Amino acid sequence: MADDTSALTRPAIDKEALKTRYRAERDKRLRADGNAQYKRLTGRFAHYAIDPYTPLRERAPKTDHVAFAFVGGGFAGLVTCARLVEAGITDVRIVEKGGDFGGAWYWNRYPGAQCDTASMVYMPLLEETGHTPTEKYAHAPEILEQCQRIGRHFGLYDNALFHTEITDLSWDDERKLWVVQTNRGDEFTASFIGLGTGPLHVAKLPGLPGIEDFHGHSFHTSRWDYDYTGGDPNGAPLDKLANKRVAIIGTGATAVQCVPHLARAAKELYVFQRTPSSVDVRDNHPIDPDWFAEIATPGWQQRWLDNFTANQAGGTAEEDLVKDGWTDLSRRIRSRIGDLPPQERTPMKMWAAWEDADFEKMEEIRARVDSIVGDRETAQKLKAWYRQLCKRPCFHDEYLLAFNEPGARLIDTDGKGVERITATGVVADGAEYEVDCIIYASGFEVGTEWTSRSGFDLEGRDGLKISEAWAEGMKTKHGIHVHGFPNAFFVQPTQGANLISNVPHNLTEAGRTIAMVIRHALDTGAREVEVTKEAQDAWVELLLSGPGRMIGSSDCTPGYYNNEGQDPGPAARLNVGYPAGASAYFKYIDQWRASGAFEGLEFR
Ligand code: NDP
Repeated sequence: MADDTSALTRPAIDKEALKTRYRAERDKRLRADGNAQYKRLTGRFAHYAIDPYTPLRERAPKTDHVAFAFVGGGFAGLVTCARLVEAGITDVRIVEKGGDFGGAWYWNRYPGAQCDTASMVYMPLLEETGHTPTEKYAHAPEILEQCQRIGRHFGLYDNALFHTEITDLSWDDERKLWVVQTNRGDEFTASFIGLGTGPLHVAKLPGLPGIEDFHGHSFHTSRWDYDYTGGDPNGAPLDKLANKRVAIIGTGATAVQCVPHLARAAKELYVFQRTPSSVDVRDNHPIDPDWFAEIATPGWQQRWLDNFTANQAGGTAEEDLVKDGWTDLSRRIRSRIGDLPPQERTPMKMWAAWEDADFEKMEEIRARVDSIVGDRETAQKLKAWYRQLCKRPCFHDEYLLAFNEPGARLIDTDGKGVERITATGVVADGAEYEVDCIIYASGFEVGTEWTSRSGFDLEGRDGLKISEAWAEGMKTKHGIHVHGFPNAFFVQPTQGANLISNVPHNLTEAGRTIAMVIRHALDTGAREVEVTKEAQDAWVELLLSGPGRMIGSSDCTPGYYNNEGQDPGPAARLNVGYPAGASAYFKYIDQWRASGAFEGLEFR
């Protein structure tokens, strides 16, 4: 039964006033150019894209054959290949554009980078590799090391191709294999392929007038220039900034983590804000090895993963092992819904309960700004006026404090953004701020086409391109199998669990599915495995019977969650997950695999 005192203890919130404010804040940020407002790291900015971490090594082109080739050496590739190796399929090759494994964690080495989901559930394959995370939220160097540890543990380095990008990937129906071509002159073949190019790997810059004219130093956060700033990814002070005036453009999840480091180190720091992030409590702490030894009994990580997902996405867990900002919001929503008498649990009322929990949460987050930031005007400007899941929620205990540093200044642009860049600085609202260095914390391409971000158009049976197959939106079974593309597997969350708070959970499950499917193909002598059109259509129909997209609502302030506020077109309705939620999906897929029938796939 619901606790009927809970409603009495909640402070009254003027919901209509909040809704009006949210709408006004969104409206002033809407702009017609949407994703086109950004530019890539090309032309004058091509040097931004160069890998600053690992020198390019010459090597002979590959012309051999492998059992399995995977595009992308981030979490998706690592966990999938690890599961294949566990299943006895060791002839695997990862092709990666960076100089080592790690994906997002290879590129993002900016000061303060750390995971926003608890290490115990975020860091993949901890149990398999025997690693104890050192902190509740591990910092980037430890996550990168975990990627490298997975690579070593499962023998993935021997056959990997780094600093290599796919230029063409086509199915040869006569030979029943994939032909892989790369920018390093490789032309090798693979019986099976996997694709895990990730959603956040093409860095973008704001398309500001004058951006090419700046005479000072500048870089994107995903290519941090420690030679210029001093310091290192482990958090050593950025000592070379002591006499520098620095601008950082953007206040998303990346800026929230690196601004405290900049504020401590730079002579002057100007933080250019278009939209404030919601910044909730972080509460990081070291993991006690004795505590860990006690809880880390066999199967511990799967138990934690299942528990986190159950708390997050439609499960029934009584206990909350992770206890953080993500599970807090879910707990509040459940409690609000629990307060409703059963006969009143209509979709409308449940949505209202969700919204109420969110209003309450966001009021607390806004009050937190007042309690931390000394200057009243700055505090007002740092408050986020939208629902928590409208933009990527952030969690940090030093970001707001950074604005109390004497040299740090928030330059709020009231939703308009930076106006232009000059040879000597940044202009906002008509005022020029002269700086020595501009750091672009402007994020990554999300709303663009898959083919444009991956840099190639997968070509399946009879020359069918993936851009054609998905012309009206993504169509798969489980987010993994696509009709017309035999022996190819996508590794990503959409059309599967679609769990956004812990993306690696989606990936490890997809890896498990793929390993079992390929093992079955090999064991039964099948040379081809492909989802039937009927099974794919049925899955898509099932997806469309669900509640629709849980994030990315058009009434939210613009950002990459909602295609920068532009109508994403009818295809976006397919960017959904299993209707019954992530917990239910993981149970379903476990049974689907365990049955051994692999219903919907055809083995030939
Ligand atoms: P985002 O896309 O989230 O942020 C880009 C920022 O640049 C926004 O604040 C945006 O403002 C701002 N911006 C763009 N154009 C202008 C302009 N003309 N003037 C002023 N500001 C501008 O990129 P991030 O790199 O911060 O994060 C990307 C994603 O990477 C995160 O959402 C998260 O998923 C992931 N990430 C994960 C981390 C983790 O797990 N620990 C850490 C960091 C990132 P506006 O909001 O108005 O568009």
